Amino acid sequence: MRRTVGAFALAFMALGCQPSAGNKELNTPPPTAPPRSLPPSAQLGGSITLKICSDKDTREQDRGWKTPLLSSFGRLVGGILNVGARVSMRIGPCTADFQVPTCHAFAGEVMCRENFIARVLQAAAWGGALSAVATRRHAGAGDWYDIMARVGGGDLFELVAVEPDSFDRLAAAWEGEGAWRADELHTARDLVERIRHIESKGEEPSGPEETIAHRIYITTAGHLVSFIYGHEMSHYFSNDCMFSEPSRVEAARRIEAMHRLQVEGPLCSSMILPKSTEALLVRPEELKADTCALRGMAYLERRLFSKSWGTPEPELSLTMAFVARRLVVDVASWFLAYGPMSRGRADFGNDGNPTAILLSLVPGYLVPQHRLALIARELGEHAAAEGRAPPPVLCEDAARIFVLQTRRSVSACRWRKMDEIRKAERALVPALSDFVPSGVLGVLRTGNFDHEHAFRCQPPLLEAAPNGAFPGPSRSE
Ligand SMILES: [Zn+2]
Repeated sequence: MRRTVGAFALAFMALGCQPSAGNKELNTPPPTAPPRSLPPSAQLGGSITLKICSDKDTREQDRGWKTPLLSSFGRLVGGILNVGARVSMRIGPCTADFQVPTCHAFAGEVMCRENFIARVLQAAAWGGALSAVATRRHAGAGDWYDIMARVGGGDLFELVAVEPDSFDRLAAAWEGEGAWRADELHTARDLVERIRHIESKGEEPSGPEETIAHRIYITTAGHLVSFIYGHEMSHYFSNDCMFSEPSRVEAARRIEAMHRLQVEGPLCSSMILPKSTEALLVRPEELKADTCALRGMAYLERRLFSKSWGTPEPELSLTMAFVARRLVVDVASWFLAYGPMSRGRADFGNDGNPTAILLSLVPGYLVPQHRLALIARELGEHAAAEGRAPPPVLCEDAARIFVLQTRRSVSACRWRKMDEIRKAERALVPALSDFVPSGVLGVLRTGNFDHEHAFRCQPPLLEAAPNGAFPGPSRSE
């Protein structure tokens, strides 16, 4: 991590999906196991069409990620669709009536903006590429883990957003900060391009570095696509989820808990009338869609360690899976907070004075920090289920963003006096203790962002892991 997200004044704009050309096709592979349930697609002739719309000003480097999207989507649904079912993609221009910066869906239609998908997938690819480069430089897995724990969503989106002719300058600036050498960043950029190529052509990665980069990418991108499309496909199938098995957070009623906290707890909205809590109400179809999104992530987790994914080195693979889970949380936290077109850390001045603004709450949805906490909890539980102590996945910048958003949600009530705001923040702590490390809750309570160690993806639980197979950071506070 290079520059730190800190507390700052916030302004707002909106981001959200709303319920409301050429063609590519992918024949889904035969299921590796019997389908768990007949998916709703059976009602729609067994085929799914993903619409992608392209803006006139979409950058050249954002145009090559449609087939990789199809690859990730195919991996997600490949195990549950009927044999022979088709997934196709229709591509066309974004028209004026498509208002959202991300995706929208309703019965039988799902459409996403090309540059949204492209930037999310590229952020995942940069995460995989930097991880692979870090493994080469740092022989010890602990060092590697520590390096990657310090790459946040802001770093990834900065790399995604930089224009090609400015890349050398950015690489030199990063080198000057000491975390990465310029040649490593150039190698990582080549790996991002290789990932795009491999995912577009259906090729196998060659060599250990490409294999690591690719495997971390498909895990990270797979989860992000599961969340985005798991949500949208719920609308597509008229609020029917194509994944029948509950996620862990659903089974433990944590989604309900987060929902209750939002509508009955001390949060408020900045955008509607003072004292109004209407903006915090969650539309039932949006809650269902998020529930389905989390089921999609759980489903992908179950597939991750199945034979079809291939694991050349099991222990490394576990570490890679964990790095990927962290990257999922980083990427998701960033685009939920700042939007997919964010320039990442480029929006934060070197004086720590940010020009980046948190997106406003979108009425009708779970607030972004609760969505993020559920994602992190789900992924953390799967990591724990591998027989290791549950590692913190909501830490570093993702945790800072979580705190910023939560504090914004209680201080936005214009009718509240300062002592009432403090009281509200304290009241949130017990409810959030299932989701966020205690140090982070301490910052939520005090507002003191200077306690850097509170955000560390700290090692104690990892160090306590049985047989030491799961490498934690090599340093401790
Ligand atoms: Zn929705």
